[in-house]
This record gives sequence, C-alpha cells and structure tokens, in this order.
Amino acid sequence: MSDRASEAARIARAQLPEGLRPETLAVRTALAPSQHGENSEGLFLTSAFVQPDAATSARRFAQMEDFTYARTSNPTVRSLEQRLAAMEGAEGAVATSTGMSAILLLIMGLLKAGDHVVCSRSVFGSTLSLFGKEFAKFGVETSFVSQTDIGEWRAAMKPGTKLLFAETPTNPLTEVCDIRTLADLAHDAGALLTVDNTFCSPALQRPLALGADLVMHAGTKYLDGQGRVMAGALCGANRLIVDVFGPTLRTAGMTLAPFNAWVVLKGLETLSLRMKAQSQATLHVARWLEKHPAVARVHYPALASHPQHALAMSQQSGMGGAVVSFDVRAGTPEQAREAAFKVIDGTRVLSIATNLGDTKSIITHPASTSHGRLSEAQRLASGIGQGLVRLAVGLEHVDDITDDLQRGLSTLT
Ligand SMILES: *Cc1c(COP(=O)(O)O)cnc(C)c1O
Repeated sequence: MSDRASEAARIARAQLPEGLRPETLAVRTALAPSQHGENSEGLFLTSAFVQPDAATSARRFAQMEDFTYARTSNPTVRSLEQRLAAMEGAEGAVATSTGMSAILLLIMGLLKAGDHVVCSRSVFGSTLSLFGKEFAKFGVETSFVSQTDIGEWRAAMKPGTKLLFAETPTNPLTEVCDIRTLADLAHDAGALLTVDNTFCSPALQRPLALGADLVMHAGTKYLDGQGRVMAGALCGANRLIVDVFGPTLRTAGMTLAPFNAWVVLKGLETLSLRMKAQSQATLHVARWLEKHPAVARVHYPALASHPQHALAMSQQSGMGGAVVSFDVRAGTPEQAREAAFKVIDGTRVLSIATNLGDTKSIITHPASTSHGRLSEAQRLASGIGQGLVRLAVGLEHVDDITDDLQRGLSTLT
C-alpha cells in the first residue's frame, strides 16, 4: 500500500469489530471519515453530489446506491440512520424531518385506501389527529382502543387490519402497554406492529427485541436531547426501510435536513448517560410529589403505585424515563384548571413550554396545549383532566427542581 492508502485505511473506522455494546455503538457507528480523518463526524451541507461520469450517474440513480441528490440521502443523514439502527438493534433506519413526518411516511409507504389501523387512544395528540382526521380523508380507517386493555385491541381487529400502532409509555399519563403481546396479536392477523419509542429511547427500551416490526421516533425529544432541532425516524428490517420507505421518502420528501441530522447524531453519543441521569432524577421528583399534600395522584412508571409498574420495569431496563405527570387536588374542572395554572405560573426555574427531552426541565398543562385540539370528551376518554400537570425532567440539580415545584404548589395553600 502507498503511504496515502495505508493512512486512509487506518483512519477509516467504518469496519467496527462485532459485539460492541450499545453505548459504544452510540459513539462509534457512522460512515467512514473523509480523507481528512475528522474524529467528529462531518456535516455535509450539500444538496447534490458530483458523479464521476454519466454512466456511474445513471447507475446510481437507478439503483439508489451512493449519493445523488439530498432528498434521497446525504452522508450526514446516513450516519445518523446507521447509528440509530445500531442502537435499536434494527437492520436499517430512515430519518425524517419531524416525528410526525415519520408517521406520515409510515402510512404513505405501508397502507392504501381500505386498509385498517388499530391504535391506542392514549397516543400523542397530533398522532391521534393524524390517524383520526388526516389519514381518514384518504380512506385509511383507524379504530382507537384502550392503551392497556388487550381485549379491546383484539376486538378491534378486522380482515383489513394491516397495522397496530402503540406508544409506550404514553404522553402525558405514562400508561404502558405490553409490546410482546401486541406483536403476537399483530402477527397472528398478518399485520405489523409499530411502536413510538420516543419516551424511552433505545437507551431504555428496544421494541424490536420484544417483537415489534418497526420503531418510530420523534428525534426532536431525547435523541437530540438538548431541545435544538426537529427530527424523526423509522427503524426496522431493510425489506421495509430500504424497499418500502426509501422510495416513498425519495418521492414525497419528508427528508431530514443534514444540519439537523448532524445535531441528533452528536446527541446520540450522550443519550444513555442522559436517560439514566434524567430517569433517576424523575423518580426522586415523583416520590417527592407523591408525598405532597396538594397532589392527588402521580403518574410515573417507576413508582410502585403505577398500574403497570412490573411490566414497565421489565420493558424499560428497570427505569421510568424522564416524564412524570400529576393531578393537583381540586373540585370542578374550572377549579382544577385554575389550580394547575397557579402551580405552573408559581415556578421560576422550570420552562413553561410544550416539549420534552430537553436538558431544561419543562412544565406543561396538557389539556390546553398538547391535547388542546381534542374535544373535552376525547380528553376525558384519554384520562387527561384540567388539573393534570406534566413535568419533563432535565438535567438541573434535582433539589432545584423540587424546590421550584414547591414554589408552584405552595400557591394552592
Ligand atoms: C413529540 C412527539 C411526537 C411528534 O414529534 P415531532 O418531532 O414533534 O413531530 C410523536 N410522538 C411522541 C411520543 C412525541 O413526544
């Protein structure tokens, strides 16, 4: 080998040894570095890729290999896809512009008019609207069922059921469903199970290992982890990722921007550390809230009082994640809303915002924000009352978080 060639071989770390652990894959999986040997993955802000000659260009366009045009793929985006797939234990992944566009890609790629979906009625608010309103316009019908009652899922199955869609734990009540049981139900009917793994991330929960066919992510949340960019992804077998979703994405253009891909790629390197630290802090906050006289009920999977505590602990690496919600003690819905607003407005450190998965802790009133577009009946069916407050715990000192909650809760007495 020439000096140049041996140097290139030395810096190209794309061929990692077998058996690396998830934390290592999160730091190391990516395309090989360029000829410059950059140790932090490069950001390729380019929409087109120059081809060596017309024949190669023709072949690459026909076979979708290498890089041609960034709506189809970009090296920074590809590095993110490979890293996330490795962490989920998936053959492949396709990155999208937002979490919602990942679900749009899922349905556009997989289903056609007349197909039927079974979906938990406790999923993310925009997911409910996307299935219930938008996809219904195109003849894809969705039955919404209980998050936790497998009997309702079974009863909703029809000959045309092609997809089961679940999110666990849910936003904001952290209800947990049994991924393996839902996967068996889907497969017995020749359908696929997709799990929205946004809340746990692969650091805590790997749905594919439990039988799910596809994992969906809002990368906007923990994968970025620092509240900077929007992103989404689907992970699964290449017969779906490459053969089904690749062509749909290339045509319809839910493509992730390279800059956002680069931000999330670097976010993944600290995902495991953040998820563990934030889960630990959230358990502390949840126990503190459970003892507070102004709090009627706390929803958090790592509490023994959670209805699916044992299932959650077995599915989520023994951790609860970083979202906890609680009901303030109050009478009528109007009084409950007023009390929840007072608690939120009484805090001075927590951000009043509608996001989660940030280093900055965020306090939210779900009934008037994330779930504000639902009817009161839909909200009640989902168990989201006017007195419910959601806290997405970040990386501040945990005592500063409980001190701030006390500032808010003390306004009620
Ligand atoms: C935020 C979120 C989404 C949607 O993701 P966007 O990036 O906001 O489009 C979907 N599912 C869950 C569980 C979420 O928290």
